Amino acid sequence: MAKLLEGKVVAEKIKEGIKRHVEDLDRKPVLASIQVGENAGAAAYVKSQQKAAEALGIEYQLHKLEVDTSEDELIEFIQDLNKDKFINGVIVQMPLPAQIDYKKISQFIAPEKDVEGMNPANIGKIIFGKAKMLPCTAAAVMELINATGVDLYGKEVVVVGHSEIVGKPLALLLLDKFATVTVCHIGTSKAGKLEEHVRAAEILVVAVGKAGLIPGDWVKEGAIVIDVGINRVGDKIVGDVEFEVAEKKASFITPVPGGVGPLTVTMLMHNLIEATKLQQ
Ligand code: NAP
Repeated sequence: MAKLLEGKVVAEKIKEGIKRHVEDLDRKPVLASIQVGENAGAAAYVKSQQKAAEALGIEYQLHKLEVDTSEDELIEFIQDLNKDKFINGVIVQMPLPAQIDYKKISQFIAPEKDVEGMNPANIGKIIFGKAKMLPCTAAAVMELINATGVDLYGKEVVVVGHSEIVGKPLALLLLDKFATVTVCHIGTSKAGKLEEHVRAAEILVVAVGKAGLIPGDWVKEGAIVIDVGINRVGDKIVGDVEFEVAEKKASFITPVPGGVGPLTVTMLMHNLIEATKLQQ
């Protein structure tokens, strides 16, 4: 039976480091969060970020903009926060209304305040192993893998999903540790090759958002399984991996909920501390 990799447990040590750093600062670090329009998903992220910030002595400033805010108005708002020396980090909550393109917006968050690590200037630094603020979910996955004590050197790692926020940056971070990385996506599934790759994975990371995409019996005996997916099925939240079967084969597995999620918000706060250092 696999050991559970719980985000909350792994986050504890990182939170201690953040608290110590905050205590040493002259004033509380400030995270400015922008929410455009009302949305249940964005509201849930805001709530968990507010709670995490408060527990760590971080000031969380929520800026709610009207649902019909234009892209230019949002950019102007971000640029004002960039100039404000009392603001250490800026985050734009997803999802955004249809008139706003997140990829465009992310370029306007000052790189030294980009706590989500999504400005192309910060993403580019991952290639050189020089990024100070990593995309939070990818960073959380790396922390969970580290917590198992595994040496990534030469390991067969399969990442399912190639989104900009998870799969792509994660593949680069794993490569940097000399893992042999295979990235699977919709093309892999359509070619009927997903099972073959998953079965070979010593470490499997799934970030797709489709419940049951990975049947538990595909998991290699002794594999480490990190399930990033969040899916609502009836009144339950489940991941992308069939947990009940996979936990009997894996050596370590993340529960959903309770795995990657709680650590992602901690990595956001960790990035805020990195931002304050860059601004000193
Ligand atoms: P996304 O942008 O929708 O990306 C999903 C990825 O899965 C895409 O690369 C997509 O490929 C690929 N994909 C879709 N169907 C597939 C299939 N049948 N076989 C293989 N690959 C397939 O989603 P995301 O933002 O990366 O998030 C992924 C999941 O993680 C979601 O459930 C999300 O809620 C969750 N998430 C959790 C956290 C956390 O903190 N726990 C944070 C972020 C995201 P194509 O683009 O080629 O179709």
